[in-house]
Amino acid sequence: SSTLPLSTSSIPNVRWEDIGGLESIRKEIMDAVELPLKYPHFFEGSRRSGILLFGPPGTGKTLVAKAVARECGLPFLSIKGPELLGSYVGESEANIRAVFDAARSAAMTPLSTPLKGGMSGGSAGYSGASILFFDEIDSLAPRRGNTGHGDGVMDRVVATLLSELDGGGGGGGQGKRESRSAHVVVIGATNRPDLLDPSLLRPGRFDRLLYLGPAKTKEHCLKILLAQTRKFRFEEGCSADTVLERAMESFPPTLSGADLSAVASGALMRGLKRVCDRIEEEARSINLDKGVDDGSEMAVDID
Ligand code: ATP
Repeated sequence: SSTLPLSTSSIPNVRWEDIGGLESIRKEIMDAVELPLKYPHFFEGSRRSGILLFGPPGTGKTLVAKAVARECGLPFLSIKGPELLGSYVGESEANIRAVFDAARSAAMTPLSTPLKGGMSGGSAGYSGASILFFDEIDSLAPRRGNTGHGDGVMDRVVATLLSELDGGGGGGGQGKRESRSAHVVVIGATNRPDLLDPSLLRPGRFDRLLYLGPAKTKEHCLKILLAQTRKFRFEEGCSADTVLERAMESFPPTLSGADLSAVASGALMRGLKRVCDRIEEEARSINLDKGVDDGSEMAVDID
């Protein structure tokens, strides 16, 4: 299981300020994840359930999952569904169990560095919990009996996933008993919820579905771009607004967060190019006119 391509369990550095235009998603997902951690006694006996983020590519599903982990101070394990599918008998099922085991053990490992500025007054996170993020979860749980693998392989994979989601795991798994109390928050993401086996959406499994879509209005685009450029220092006469105006001339009217990220990096590259051009221009003029420079250090090394 050590060869699994699991990104190691660390606390991601994505914050809500980095995400634009998803305020209602933020509220819903934080309530779903944080309240049971903060007030476990209220939620005793209630079923733990997973959260399914769905929507087109590049709309912030991964980003949201990371921000939740960051703001709750929880270790984050992320895996792409297809990476768990092995080629020999039983390999995929073993991989799924191993991923849940890894998430349970991350939950039970004390966090060494307290997080500054996280939720709950900057606490060190909630011990005993972790976030397990499955990207492209449709590849692990396609509708059963309809997978094109006549041998039932995928049916067994889906069954294993369901059993882990139900908190059991069908046997095996040394140390599972000790880590039973680990609280693994499972977040799935998919572009194709229609392909999922319906049993995955039953209560106690992924019963909270949140849709993330592309931005369809200029205001929505601007919120995203503002978040993405919040660390930029714009030149005079330039702002996220003007960058967006310019981009909208060539982009389609509907933009995903990933499209807007390309707009932001384009603006950054143009800005950097102007700075470099200015430095070179300055160096040239200093070379031409040695001794009358304005004290610019950057010109020193340029011949
Ligand atoms: P996929 O379905 O392809 O996995 P995704 O929905 O998980 O996509 P992300 O990986 O979260 O998309 O987002 C891709 C990139 O788009 C992010 O790294 C970020 O730069 C940008 N992005 C997407 N949505 C937003 C948003 N709401 N605010 C700021 N940036 C965003």
